[in-house]
Formats: sequence, structure tokens, C-alpha cells
Amino acid sequence: MVTKILASLSGNRLLGSRWLWFIVLSAVLIGSYASVSMLQAINGTQPQREIDRGIEYLSGAEANLSLDSLLQNDQLNWQTEQRRLLSYGMQKEPMWFRFTLSQLDYRQKWLLEIDYALLDSLRIWFMQDNRLLSDYSTGDSLPFRSRNIASEKFLFPIPQSDQPVTVYIRIQSSGSLKLPLKLWDMEQYLVYSGEHGLMLGLFFGFLVAMGLSNFFFFLTTRSINFLFYCGYVLFLGLTLMTLHGIGYKYLWPENIWLQGRSVVLFANATMFFAVIFSRELLSVHRHSLLVDRLLKISALVFLGLFLLSLLLPYWLMIKTFLLILIVEVFFICGVGIWLWRRGVAIARIYTIAWTTLLLTAMFASLETLDLISLDINSHYLLIAGASVETILLALVLAISFNQQRQQVFDAQQLALNKERDLREAEHQAQEELEYKVQERTLELEIALRELSEKNQELEERNTLDSLTGIRNRRYFDRRYQAEIRRSRREQTTLTIAMIDIDHFKQTNDNLGHLVGDDCIKAVANLIKSLLKRPADDVCRYGGEEFALLLPNTDERGAKVLLEHIREQIERSPVGTDAGDVSLTVSIGFVSAMVSSSIDDNTLLSQADQALYQAKQSGRNKVCQYHSTASQE
Ligand code: GH3
Ligand code: MG
Ligand code: MG
Repeated sequence: MVTKILASLSGNRLLGSRWLWFIVLSAVLIGSYASVSMLQAINGTQPQREIDRGIEYLSGAEANLSLDSLLQNDQLNWQTEQRRLLSYGMQKEPMWFRFTLSQLDYRQKWLLEIDYALLDSLRIWFMQDNRLLSDYSTGDSLPFRSRNIASEKFLFPIPQSDQPVTVYIRIQSSGSLKLPLKLWDMEQYLVYSGEHGLMLGLFFGFLVAMGLSNFFFFLTTRSINFLFYCGYVLFLGLTLMTLHGIGYKYLWPENIWLQGRSVVLFANATMFFAVIFSRELLSVHRHSLLVDRLLKISALVFLGLFLLSLLLPYWLMIKTFLLILIVEVFFICGVGIWLWRRGVAIARIYTIAWTTLLLTAMFASLETLDLISLDINSHYLLIAGASVETILLALVLAISFNQQRQQVFDAQQLALNKERDLREAEHQAQEELEYKVQERTLELEIALRELSEKNQELEERNTLDSLTGIRNRRYFDRRYQAEIRRSRREQTTLTIAMIDIDHFKQTNDNLGHLVGDDCIKAVANLIKSLLKRPADDVCRYGGEEFALLLPNTDERGAKVLLEHIREQIERSPVGTDAGDVSLTVSIGFVSAMVSSSIDDNTLLSQADQALYQAKQSGRNKVCQYHSTASQE
């Protein structure tokens, strides 16, 4: 049940775990038990008597008189205090107090304690029948070592006497003027001061430990709010130390200047850190820029007051501080409650923490301003409030830090996931792209192959003669060049032959061009069929003329082949629509190994010349070109 309440207070998953809350609860219970027993013990050791109601005092202009003048003047306006609490607020003028101690057991030693450490100037006289027994001059406007008993509170031994002792006290202080007078049996006081010292030691030790551990948290985590918290706790400790007189006793015993303004300095610094800590802890800027700015301004106000405290008089600064503090108490508590209601989980514990301290601080302040009177010592009230608050704020800080870490972790996880998704998507896109590129490349390759096939086909078609189906003149010209070069390079014999149908004009004239065409086709096919070597080629050179390329063929071989062709044409009349047509051809050829010195076209013209000879010598003949110049 309690665990549930605490978990709902924190609103944090991690801290909702039962074990953790069990530990926290146990610690709180043990701590509370120890504190209560200690307070009981301290309450058990009470002073013999508190001197309050019935004391006489003198204030105003008359209070400026010296002791002698006081003693001689019976007409002075001594007033009897009716209140139990001897607190007079801010008094610029000095005040005189007078009371008589009677019925003290003079065999024991007695001490008079003023349980308020911040009195500037204090003089005390112990008199008996207008005769001075002892007197002391002290206060924190004098160095600490001037005290006759080195105690943080003002402590005076009462002269031992079986007669009543009258005590005169003159006080002047720039702060609030209080006189909590206590009469102690010396032995009782020894016990009390041990207990009191232990409690204060524990409390300040606790604050120092919290401050240091949070400072180390700051060093390791670099989270600035640990530093703010540390500043807050340390200055809170210093403020309370000053209020208890411990600062003056142990830390700055010679520094009267600092002692005169330490409360207001440290209290302002405490509030400055408290405000910037709260602002950061609750991330106020996320909820309202106006409230955030107000917090910033109040932090600056406390900083300003801190600096002004170095210059302006203490009484002015402490008054200003306390007034602003009251406003700030409500403001900070209000911000906590407002954020709590807006569902900010840590604002709940935060508000409880501050309310505890600020309420105690408020009661202490109101008492200091003399607006209320409290039964318990306001210092102990502040200590209790401060302890609870310090613990709770440390808890909130830990929760908030953990939440932030969790948020950072979540954000990182999210970023990692996004990056992974992105990489996967990228990878997929890459794969798809590669696949598409491959696909396109393949398509392109196919298209290219088709194109090159078409090209080849076209090329092929370009090299064919449309009438006869054998190679054409264009093809011959290219092949002729290639074979000339090969013969020249490899030194092989190349034969070029020209074949021309005899008297074809007449055939055409007599039988018509269509029959003539049939004849040309038949002769071409016949010649083609008679070529056996793959390298041999016949081309239609033009009209009824054919050119033969016979690589690696010498004149003997060429002569045999060409003679055979001539013979076959003569013997094979062409069957046409107009009946069988007998044809003869004349053939001129040249066989040569091409030398580097002769022109490329030489062989062709030589074959042509040989054909001319064949025609000249009666047609239906094979003639070889003979000339020493052209032969190798
Ligand atoms: P020769 O060669 O024996 O001296 O006498 P020829 O009558 O054959 O004379 P020439 O070679 O000068 O004549 C070529 C003739 O071939 C001219 C033309 O009528 C004919 N001719 C040329 N090309 C074609 C063709 O493609 N088709 C047809 N039907 N006749 C053609
Ligand atoms: Mg001709
Ligand atoms: Mg001819």
C-alpha cells in the first residue's frame, strides 16, 4: 500500500520496483527513529530555568546611558516583560535588561547561556548590592578568541554567592534582537552540549556528504544540476552553521566583517542555487516560458542581493531578504504544485520536499520578524525541515537523472533503429537498382546483338548482287584489297581473273533483256558451283562481267580451273523461255606474288588486259597476262 503510494508519487518505472522502495522506506524509518530518540534525549536535558517573563528592560533614548548612570538613576522607565519570548525584532538602539538570580544553590556551579549566536555587541555585569562581582564584554563584533568561554553560544559563569545576584545586560545588534536566556547547572550543561554537538555534527556531516557526493556525481556525469544541488546543500549548511554560531567558531573566527553579514550572504546564495536547481530539475521552460523567466529573474534577484550584501548594512539586507523569501516560498511551492497538476511526475516529490523546508523556514522567518512565537527552537525546526528536504531533493534528482538517461537511451535506440531501417532500405534499393541495371544491360546486350545481327545481315545484303545472288562489285573491291595485302605479307601467289560473256549484246538484242538476265544468272551460278576452295570467290563485276579471286593459287592451278570454267559454260547451254541459249566466255587472268613495290590496282588492270587479249584472239579463250615487269 505505502509502496504503491510512493511509486505513484514518483511516477517512475524504475523506482516503482518494490525492493527499492522497501530499502528507501527502511532507511526513512530508521532515520526517523534515530532522530526522534535523539530529540527526546536532548529535550530530556533541559536547562535548570529559562529566564523570560518578569525580566525588566529599558529601551529607547534611556538605553544609551552607561551602567553607572543607570545605577544612580531611580527614575528610569524600566518595563517588566510580560511575554515569555524575549524577542524585540530589529532594534537600532541598544537595550538594557535586568533580572535577579536568587535561591541558587551556591555549592554548585552555574552558567548563564544566551542561546542566540548573532548578537553584535553584548555586555553583562553580575552585581550584588550595587557591587560588581564580574563583567564580560563579547558579541560577534569582537574576534571569537576574545570570548572567555570558547562556545558558539554566549556563555557566562555566574559568580558563586549565597546572596541574590543582579544581572545587567546591554545588547546592541544590527539584526533581530533576541535574548533566549537559560540558567544551567554546569554538569547538566556538559551533558547537553555533548548531545547538541553530536546532533549538529551529524546534521552538518550529512549535508557535507550530500554536497560532496553530488559534486562527484557532477564530475562523473557532467550533469550541471548535480552541481546546482551541491551548491544549494553547501550554502544551506553554511547558513545554518552561521545561525548556530559554528561558522564563526570554526571557520572564520577572526573575520568580524564576514560574521557580520554571513547569514544574509549564505542565505541568498542558498536561494540562488535553489531556484536555478528547481528551474533545471523541473525543466520549467518546457511548460511555460513566462514562469521560466520569472524563475530566472528571482535567481538573479538573489544573486543581486548576495552581491549587495557585501556592501549594504546587514539589517537592511536581512529585512529585504526575508520579505523576498516569503514571496519566493509561495512562488516555488506554487510552481511545484502547478507542475504536479500538469502531470510532471517528479514535481510531486519536489513539492513535498520544498513545502517541508519552506514551511519550516517560513515559521523560522516569521519568528525572526517577531510575527509569531514558537514553542520549539526555530533552529531545530529548520534542521529537521532541511534534512527531510535535502533527502527528498536528492531522490528527485536521482529520479530525474535516471529519466533523462532513459530518454537519451530511448532516443539513441530510436536513432539506431531508424539508421538500421534506412540502411536496410538503402540496401534493398541498391539491390533493386542493381537488378534493374542488370536487366537493362541484358536487354541492351540483346538489342545490340540483334542490331549487330541486322547490321551484319544488311552488310551481307549490301555485298550481294541482286540479280545473280553472288557477291557484287563493292564486295570484290574490299576483298581484292585484303587479298593483295595478304599476298604481299605472306608472299603467296594470288590469281585474279576477269570473265566476260562473248557477244552478249547480240543475245540481248535477239532474245530480250529478260532472257539476257537469265543467262547472266545461269553463268554466275555455274561459275560459283565450279569453285571448290572456301577462299575462292566470284563477284559480278558489272554487266555480264565477272571477277574471280583465287588466293594461294598459282598460274598452273588457275589455268586448269579457268579452262574448266570456260569449257563448262560452252558445254552447258542456258535453258530460257526462248529456248536453250549457248554462251561462251573469254577469260583473262594474272597469277602473281604481290611485291611491295607495285601498285594495289596493278593485278586488276593486268587481268583486264589479259581479258582484252582473249577477246582479241578470237574469244572463248583463257589468256594469261605475260609481262616481266608485273611478275615476281
Ligand atoms: P564482246 O564482249 O564479245 O566484245 O561483245 P559484247 O556484245 O558482249 O559487247 P559488250 O561486252 O560491250 O556488251 C555488253 C552488253 O551486255 C551490253 C548489254 O546489252 C549487255 N548487258 C550488260 N549488262 C546487262 C544486264 O544486266 N542484263 C542484260 N540482259 N544485258 C546486259
Ligand atoms: Mg562486256
Ligand atoms: Mg561481252
